[in-house]
Amino acid sequence: MENIRTPIVCMLGHVDHGKTTTLDKIRGSTVAERESGAITQHIGATEIPIDIIDNLCGPLLNKEDFKVPGLLFIDTPGHHAFTSLRSRGGSLADIAVLVVDATDGFQPQTEEALDILKRYKTPFVVALNKIDKIPGWQTTQNSPFQKSITKQKNKTQTKLEEKIYEIVGNLHEAGFQSERFDRVKDYSNTVGIIPISAKTGEGIPDLLMVLVGVAQQYFQQNLIVETQKPGKGTVLEVKEEKGLGKTIDVILYDGVINVGDQILIGSHQNPIKTKIRSLLKPKPTQEIRETGQKFQKAQKVDAASGIKIVAPNLDNVFAGYPFQVINNQNEQKIKQEMQSQVNEILIETETSGVIVKADTIGSLEAIVKDLKESNINIRKATIGDVSKRDVVEAETIEEKLDRVILAFDVNTIPEAKKHAKNKDVEIFTSKVIYRLIEKYEEWVQEIKQKREKQRLEKIIRPGKIELLPDHTFRQNNPAIVGVKVHSNIRPGYRLMKKNGQPIGELKEIQDRGEKANKAEAGKEVAVSISGPTVGRQIEEGDILYVDIPEKHAKIIEKELKDKLTEPEKQTFQEITEIKRKQNKFWAI
Ligand code: GDP
Repeated sequence: MENIRTPIVCMLGHVDHGKTTTLDKIRGSTVAERESGAITQHIGATEIPIDIIDNLCGPLLNKEDFKVPGLLFIDTPGHHAFTSLRSRGGSLADIAVLVVDATDGFQPQTEEALDILKRYKTPFVVALNKIDKIPGWQTTQNSPFQKSITKQKNKTQTKLEEKIYEIVGNLHEAGFQSERFDRVKDYSNTVGIIPISAKTGEGIPDLLMVLVGVAQQYFQQNLIVETQKPGKGTVLEVKEEKGLGKTIDVILYDGVINVGDQILIGSHQNPIKTKIRSLLKPKPTQEIRETGQKFQKAQKVDAASGIKIVAPNLDNVFAGYPFQVINNQNEQKIKQEMQSQVNEILIETETSGVIVKADTIGSLEAIVKDLKESNINIRKATIGDVSKRDVVEAETIEEKLDRVILAFDVNTIPEAKKHAKNKDVEIFTSKVIYRLIEKYEEWVQEIKQKREKQRLEKIIRPGKIELLPDHTFRQNNPAIVGVKVHSNIRPGYRLMKKNGQPIGELKEIQDRGEKANKAEAGKEVAVSISGPTVGRQIEEGDILYVDIPEKHAKIIEKELKDKLTEPEKQTFQEITEIKRKQNKFWAI
């Protein structure tokens, strides 16, 4: 038997833009129906039947045209829940609502949500929230937008239009065409923007209407489920329940599950096999109040539903894992399919690169993709808190830039934190994917610049000295002489004469009796030179140059030329001339 299932809807958007309030309003405006039992509360989701949407929308919606039985809203908003709702590389959510605060506009998490929607190819609508905050806005509680807008003064209407066009511009930059929803001609190529106020309820009927319309138009095929088929779903959350132990809240998106069914749950080790002990649904609010019990048992559940599964062996299950009902015939096949599905994302075997940890398989997938796009190598990517084991693994990596753990919305066990500090392992954390990657990239840049600076500091620079008359303090072993510095010198530099003849190494510099690690142009200092004897290889009055190795001269030529001082530039020129007398192609 075939059935059209309820489309699954998920809320995304920047923090504080009103996702929770919008959900509450959608549920709140249907509270009366809930009490009467017309609204079905699921675990982790709320189902709004089409009749109720029809009541709310009034003439906006012609129920007869619609076959979808209602809308199933995931109760937890945010891209977390969204990316956890994963099925075969796509999202389980059929439609997303991108909530944008009209006064705040596009923000980092709005952009990130858009990226995710693009990646998962999930159709979405924009709820332009908090329109009640537009100066001059006249509220009509819970009214459809199209009615509310007629009550506004021209000036207020213009302000709203400006906000809408700002969003149209942002969406355009992200590659989407969009329009105010009542002007959209074709939802298959245009994103509808629905102005709403989650506070006053204005626009909520329009939002529901558009969602039903979009679902109906684009998903009718996808929404067909076989009610007798073995159930398929995704783990939304793993929860410890008093008296029940570890349980999993799941969204069933296809088929049916029964108490006693065997299920396989895809995990990053082997798929986990378990048997459903009980299926739980929430009790109606009234009864929870009366009995103090949260759940009621069900024998059988059809898609699409949110339910709690009680079963043994759930210790290694994480949000985002897929599950499927199995029987003896298909177990092996499903096992393989599931494993390859999970393995696509979880990386365990690379020898170089960073370690990535995330809270759900969906967010892990998103990070891995972004890191790959940024050409960042990944050694290991798994789900769960940062453990000492992760740090121990990171610490074995020699390259500092890879001795790193990128942790997305997970905790770091205190012991792991301590160990990381001792072992020079960097842990980066963030709740926003792009920020996490940005933080890491900024740090990499910093380290690279430091390294670059150190590398260039090691380059032998063009120095030149002149032996002062009557300033020979010792003739040899080493020779100690007073010199005038024409361009900077440092101890350790090898020296040569004007004709290119090498004469030894500059050992030490003494500036007014103090040992110095450099001497700048213009100074008169004493230097010791190992190798020559004054009066034989060198004479008072001689000019000596730093004997720059050819490799260093090439680096000076390419990378340091504009960082040389004027005297250094001049000296470099002279050194090059000396060297080229011996070798025409020196440092070319
Ligand atoms: P979330 O982080 O996206 O879930 O945002 P919330 O739903 O928690 O809302 C953040 C804040 O904005 C709360 O203080 C809400 O009361 C307020 N808020 C949400 N929607 C509206 C609205 O339509 N109008 C006004 N004035 N405030 C709103």
